Amino acid sequence: MPKIDEYAAAAGDTAIEELKTISAKLRNKTILNVNSTAVGGGVAEILSRMLPMMTELGIKPRWELIKGGEDFYAVTKKFHNALHGTPQKLTAADFQLYRDTLKTNMESVNLDADIALIHDPQPAGLIEKKPAGAKWIWRCHIDLSNRQRDVWDFLRGYVSRYDAAVISAPSFSQELPVKQFQVPPSIDPLADKNRELTDTEISDIMKRLEIPADKPLITQVSRFDRLKDPLGVIEAFKKIQPYVTARLLLVGGSADDDPEGAQVLAEARAAAEGTPDIIVLCLPPTSNVEINAIQRASSIILQKSLKEGFGLTVSEALWKAKPVIAGAVGGIPLQITHKYSGILTRTIEGTAYWMKRLLHEPAYARKLGENGREHVRQNFLLTRHLRDYLLLALYLESGGRDFIHL
Ligand code: UDP
Repeated sequence: MPKIDEYAAAAGDTAIEELKTISAKLRNKTILNVNSTAVGGGVAEILSRMLPMMTELGIKPRWELIKGGEDFYAVTKKFHNALHGTPQKLTAADFQLYRDTLKTNMESVNLDADIALIHDPQPAGLIEKKPAGAKWIWRCHIDLSNRQRDVWDFLRGYVSRYDAAVISAPSFSQELPVKQFQVPPSIDPLADKNRELTDTEISDIMKRLEIPADKPLITQVSRFDRLKDPLGVIEAFKKIQPYVTARLLLVGGSADDDPEGAQVLAEARAAAEGTPDIIVLCLPPTSNVEINAIQRASSIILQKSLKEGFGLTVSEALWKAKPVIAGAVGGIPLQITHKYSGILTRTIEGTAYWMKRLLHEPAYARKLGENGREHVRQNFLLTRHLRDYLLLALYLESGGRDFIHL
């Protein structure tokens, strides 16, 4: 793992000094993170990078996973979709299964910590077992602005008992009796996923993955999830195929807590069949340097999400100074200012139009990428993210005083 000081080149000296000052006040405090998957998806990605940083700063981080059967993840996937605004039918038995699974986890998961960050709905119910004196934060990575009433009401019963809630964008805030804080996620500029790669490294990896380099590549990196709209991406690309020379690449994997992945992957493969310029590639969740190389080898990056909590893939691509065309949903507009640091679209037609236009206007595309990289440098690097969490921890530890003197 890189040392904190190595981040100065990307984040600036002040950001590193701030981190050291704040963490000195939290030395030896235990900060527990609980989520439901160790690999796949944005939460696991961030935790795997942030926790070693905390250790170096003298804080004691811990990471626990809750466990459940396939039926539990089918229910929490319905929660996830419903909170994102895709209507779902939840039965009394579904809610009961959630309660029962959480009860089992309360017995097995070690919840001992000064401060706990409980990520997303899956482990939210652990609050019933919160140790006395601990400060618990519900960290929500989901866009709640169109949440389905019954699921939110159920979850709200738990969330209301936390000491604070953290959301990624102001529009996700809810009517709650606890304070809500905005902390957008981040990327690690020194991780294999984002670090600089030489041209040789990139081309070696592309050769190994058997992705031809003879045409400009338009890429979307995403779990095979309907909310990432892989079929919409394929449809948009098919519309421009007669007018451009390009290849579409859909790269994905699955997360342990996502039961729908295999089906969506099969649908994407079926939609791409008979079109050799559309490649659907499934990679293991550890393929960080491969994803990095693919993003760097691409001319345009897509993130045509229909719903999105934040969309780490957008910042990942912008950090590589790539022009990004992305859905104007969830946390994506925090990362892209339309026609300045990327392109926001709302339809398949819009996505098709901008793919064609950016392929034909490479200088404009390059400018969008450069502006995007600077925006990410200032707002979405891991150092800023950790600083926000530590400030919140300090705030709660100090009994919620409104002013912290550093
Ligand atoms: N990712 C990956 N391999 C894949 C698909 C996604 O490593 O096959 C990574 C991607 O690079 C990003 C994260 O998983 O770091 C996805 O985070 P995002 O916020 O974009 O979406 P989520 O999956 O959390 O909905």
